[in-house]
Amino acid sequence: MGARSSGTRILRYLPGPVHPGTGIKVTTLSPMSDSSSAATRVRREPPPFRPVHVRAVEYRTPHLARVTLAGPELAGLAVEHPAASVRLLLPSPGTEEVVVPTWKDNEFLLPGGERPVIRTFTPRRVDPAGLELDLEIVIHESGVASGWAASAKPGDPAAVSGPGRGYVVDHDASAFLLAGDESAIPAISQLLEALPAATPVRAHIEVAHPDARLALPDHPRATVAWWDLPAGGPRGEALVGAVGRSQLDSGSRVWAAGEAATMQRLRRHLFDDRGLPRVQATVRGYWKSGRRGT
Ligand SMILES: Cc1cc2nc3c(=O)[nH]c(=O)nc-3n(C[C@H](O)[C@H](O)[C@H](O)COP(=O)(O)OP(=O)(O)OC[C@H]3O[C@@H](n4cnc5c(N)ncnc54)[C@H](O)[C@@H]3O)c2cc1C
Repeated sequence: MGARSSGTRILRYLPGPVHPGTGIKVTTLSPMSDSSSAATRVRREPPPFRPVHVRAVEYRTPHLARVTLAGPELAGLAVEHPAASVRLLLPSPGTEEVVVPTWKDNEFLLPGGERPVIRTFTPRRVDPAGLELDLEIVIHESGVASGWAASAKPGDPAAVSGPGRGYVVDHDASAFLLAGDESAIPAISQLLEALPAATPVRAHIEVAHPDARLALPDHPRATVAWWDLPAGGPRGEALVGAVGRSQLDSGSRVWAAGEAATMQRLRRHLFDDRGLPRVQATVRGYWKSGRRGT
């Protein structure tokens, strides 16, 4: 008998096997008892946290701090693809120690049941021999990680977990279009280092301050356009406009990341208005205006 005839059918996500080629867990849908009112996605436990300490802090611009983390626990941290992610665990506000949380009921919790301070960043440089990891953290108006990076000093403790999935470069692409705001500068920098040297690359970066511009890694066929956010103006306007004016063909690939509402506009533009096949574009919300990250 069909599932529809058994009354209300509530679905629960069940973790499945890990796909051997991609490492991606296959998720299946299964009927769930009617006593549960919401579909709950069971998330795979992230890799354990590795305790680290700050080795150095360097301001790449007044708005972007490069924090070098170090420690023996970084041994074996391998990041295969550009634009991957790591979780950064910081001391809870008002404390100076890092307490490693446990994974329970789909989230990390501290022993007292509180949520730890965890934010996501791009592992900009991983040095397995020197046991170092560089993060480049945007210094913005309010944010625990931003404030932490702005005042970080050698010896400060933290912990990292990862890596999370990165971008698998299509070496047969005819051209790449990259777009992002300041939070995407580390990932765009990595992409410029990783994309095939013979393939044209156009990058559009929207910055909230003119002095947030910086020299990016050389790519022989890349052009980079910087867009200033007008004072008090809406975020994303320039980025959406620049992508909208970009020529895309069936071989083009798009990578974009930044504020979530802007990324949603880009998805609508690319997939709905222009009918771009989804496989041609990766669009990731990196942060959400008015909401703290995880
Ligand atoms: C896969 C991935 C990779 C990322 N890589 C990087 C990276 O390399 N460098 C980086 O700086 N960020 C990166 N981010 C974004 C970063 O995780 C968020 O910006 C995060 O919210 C910053 O934490 P916070 O504690 O400073 O601010 P929160 O405490 O999380 O937020 C406080 C307030 O600040 C606002 N806010 C958050 N981020 C920004 C911002 N960038 N500009 C302006 N306002 C902001 C929020 O909307 C909120 O109102 C990445 C995110 C993802 C998902």
